[in-house]
Amino acid sequence: MIMHPENSIKRRQSTRINVGKVPIGDGAPIAVQSMTNTKTTDVDATIEQIKRLERVGVDIVRVSVPTMDAAEAFKLIKQQINIPLIADIHFDYRIALKVAEYGVDCLRINPGNIGNQERIRSVVDCARDKNIPIRIGVNGGSLEKDIQEKYGEPTPAALVESAMRHVDILDKLNFDQFKVSVKASDVFLAVGAYRLLAGKIDQPLHLGITEAGGFRSGAVKSAIGLGLLLSEGIGDTLRISLAADPIEEVKVGFDILKSLRIRSRGINFIACPTCSRQEFDVIATVNALEQRLEDIITPMDVSIIGCVVNGPGEALISTLGVTGGNKKSGFYEDGIRQKERFDNHDMIDALEQKIRQKALMLDKNRII
Ligand code: SF4
Repeated sequence: MIMHPENSIKRRQSTRINVGKVPIGDGAPIAVQSMTNTKTTDVDATIEQIKRLERVGVDIVRVSVPTMDAAEAFKLIKQQINIPLIADIHFDYRIALKVAEYGVDCLRINPGNIGNQERIRSVVDCARDKNIPIRIGVNGGSLEKDIQEKYGEPTPAALVESAMRHVDILDKLNFDQFKVSVKASDVFLAVGAYRLLAGKIDQPLHLGITEAGGFRSGAVKSAIGLGLLLSEGIGDTLRISLAADPIEEVKVGFDILKSLRIRSRGINFIACPTCSRQEFDVIATVNALEQRLEDIITPMDVSIIGCVVNGPGEALISTLGVTGGNKKSGFYEDGIRQKERFDNHDMIDALEQKIRQKALMLDKNRII
């Protein structure tokens, strides 16, 4: 058994809500979310995308419901999906009531934007009756006008003031089944806002760097922002916002959690950057295996290192490891060098087979 230093992160104490079958807060595993980017009224395309997200391990999916037609489509989608679904609604309280009737698992709606007291109360009462939590979502790009004027520009305090307005509305209605996000596209702004909010409320926090950018820059910004917060114990669920296939959001989310040793899922590849010493094509091997092994959810570390400079050292602390050698490469299991060696030309197939066998074995041991 390979031992890694455990993270020593102490999670912020929070209350718990349940988004369908997924618990959020109060020590529950940090849930990874994503959002569909199909037209919700295109029921087939949306279902297909949700199923793809499920295959890469998403815990919860958010679907935007901008119209009553979309609410009707949501009903059909919900009937064919097992994973919890959140409806993203802006302003129209009738849509919130409709999707509640259709079995939504959480409403992403800001009570302060619903309209008069009667409308707010009808949505909150309905959520209470049906045990549906609410996510309050504040975004640095759409702060209320008076808050913008007061602060001059989006600041952490401005985001939190906006969030607290919505929180106060729910408090007055004795509704505590909610979580809050204070997202911004600027890393420091978002991090500052979450830190401030973390000390003000007891509810779970949904983390995100909003409109983070394309795949590469968005992943980097999210890793820095969420990495800072998560390493301080702040955050109970997250969504990585990328201008990319939502599948990538889920993968990046898990990679951030894996890197912090907060939550492991699937293979954590350790690979060298390669140089002229490499004995087999490390980059092609890693890329091929990442694709081929997307279905593996068993947590394990696999080191793929091009030569003996760093190979044995990494293999010692990996579940499985290969170290490039002349024509044939050394293979390690649980840190122990095996007699078996892999032909450098057959590396991808051989390693895939070993990883699958190991995953089966680890899964079997866990069940026992
Ligand atoms: S481990 Fe070997 S092949 Fe990989 S980068 Fe280092 S020296 Fe180069």
